[in-house]
Amino acid sequence: MTIFTKIINREIPAQIVYEDDRALAFRDVNPQAPVHILLIPKKEIPTLNDLEQADTSLMGHLMTLVPKIAADAGIAEKGYRTVINTNAHAGQTVSHVHIHIIGGRALSWPPG
Ligand code: 5GP
Repeated sequence: MTIFTKIINREIPAQIVYEDDRALAFRDVNPQAPVHILLIPKKEIPTLNDLEQADTSLMGHLMTLVPKIAADAGIAEKGYRTVINTNAHAGQTVSHVHIHIIGGRALSWPPG
């Protein structure tokens, strides 16, 4: 179990911005921009590498939530970045799939 499951279970606090039966979104504790939200499936999937065909609907659901959460956070129109880090080379630190939704300022590209 990761820290994100503890957030899902309300065992540790988080600033939750969206929740339904399959997904949870909350503010990143160490924001890299004025808006930095993590959107996660409630299902414990460690990395993108662990996705199965049965997760197609769940992951599609998460992607359709992204613009809604971005709009609610006020960053949809000006723009934002979505990032999913996978394993060591990408710097994944929590082994529970999460979509970073980052915005509120201009972001440079490419990433480091
Ligand atoms: P990763 O590096 O795995 O792609 O992203 C993990 C993210 O989770 C980091 O941006 C980190 O700041 C965030 N994070 C780690 N622990 C907590 C926590 O306890 N609460 C919240 N809200 N975010 C966390």
